Amino acid sequence: VDGTTESVSIAHLGNGDYFGEGALLEDEPRSANIIARGQVQCFSLDRSDFVKLLGPLQDIMKRKADERRDTAEDKVRQTKRQLDASIKFSDLRHVRTLGTGTFGRVKLVQHKATNDTFALKILQKAQVVSYRQQKNVINEKEIMTEADHPFILRLLATYKDLHCLYMLLELVQGGELFSLLHCKGGKLASNDAMFYGACVLSALEYLHKRSIVYRDLKPENLLVDHEGYIKVVDFGFAKKVTEKTFTLCGTPEYLAPELVLGKGHNKGVDYWAFGVLIYEMLAGVSPFADSEGCDHMIICKNIVRGRLEFPKKFPDKAKDMISKLLVRDSHQRFGCLKRGAMDIKDHPWFSGINWRHLDYKKIDAPWIPEISDPLDTSNFDDYEEDDSIEPYLDTGSLWDATF
Ligand code: AMP
Repeated sequence: VDGTTESVSIAHLGNGDYFGEGALLEDEPRSANIIARGQVQCFSLDRSDFVKLLGPLQDIMKRKADERRDTAEDKVRQTKRQLDASIKFSDLRHVRTLGTGTFGRVKLVQHKATNDTFALKILQKAQVVSYRQQKNVINEKEIMTEADHPFILRLLATYKDLHCLYMLLELVQGGELFSLLHCKGGKLASNDAMFYGACVLSALEYLHKRSIVYRDLKPENLLVDHEGYIKVVDFGFAKKVTEKTFTLCGTPEYLAPELVLGKGHNKGVDYWAFGVLIYEMLAGVSPFADSEGCDHMIICKNIVRGRLEFPKKFPDKAKDMISKLLVRDSHQRFGCLKRGAMDIKDHPWFSGINWRHLDYKKIDAPWIPEISDPLDTSNFDDYEEDDSIEPYLDTGSLWDATF
């Protein structure tokens, strides 16, 4: 596909098919060679005829061109993505804690020989079992191994011992979007929220195309990388879902009504949470919060029955888009309709985003974190170090055999 990667076959064209539209539609360089098998007759159209004759069909052709590019990129990725067996657990030196999760902590670690730095997520088996999260942990590993997207955190290697499971992750040094939100007085300018929202939407669309529902969208799970772009982290609730799934999971303020009501859910819950996220970035508070505390019952009642209200001076286009995302009936919700995520990408609030440039990180991010060196953790809170591990008694169930 380009000079630096192995070539792969993207498609076989036949009678009446066409190629070369990508360059005319988006002024992009050619991304593939066309090789004729046997005798082939081609007709060509120059740019002015193309615009004159096929102008009205551009929408359809652009979609097809995007699909072809996605297929090409996927094929290249599938040939490349695998975990790295060369980094051994004993090669890693623990530096300090970056964050804490439900079953353990995430530590900054450094490779002793190369000085490369990574994040190491430590899961205590005893705690995983006591919360009955065995299946979710295996899902998390499998989904992160499969995922290959610029805004999804990369899993590099896994390890295990008697009491713990470990995930070696790329290090993201800009801290949580949550901290950024709070530094900026709780809310962001519309253009900044649009940029972060676009990164998240691109990641969600990628997951949904693979039938993966993420189920834990919130600013704490969105890290900012050294270029100012988002990385979605924590796939502890992510799951492959083809029809519907029923387990209640997520964080109260971001739960979709069908989750609260236990009606069965699918990717629609991510689009609901996406609406909550955009609202929160712009308003500084989430739309269904308990205004006097954080009573989960009140939050759930607001989600299922409350009126969606916007603060004064809320951008009109964002209001319109959020109202189409926070639709209680998931069948009517933006993202769940025939055009999927395209309805959201094409919404006027996102009109400033060139989606292909975004995925190639060609857009200037609103904020570039200051990072002095590979060990700099100044964008993270301080945590007390605690290396105590709850012992795990193996009952021979082999639940972690594939980790
Ligand atoms: P998790 O258990 O995956 O939700 O991670 C807990 C916290 O650790 C996150 O909210 C982040 O603050 C931090 N963290 C997780 N992964 C990374 C990473 N790859 N780089 C830097 N910090 C991370």
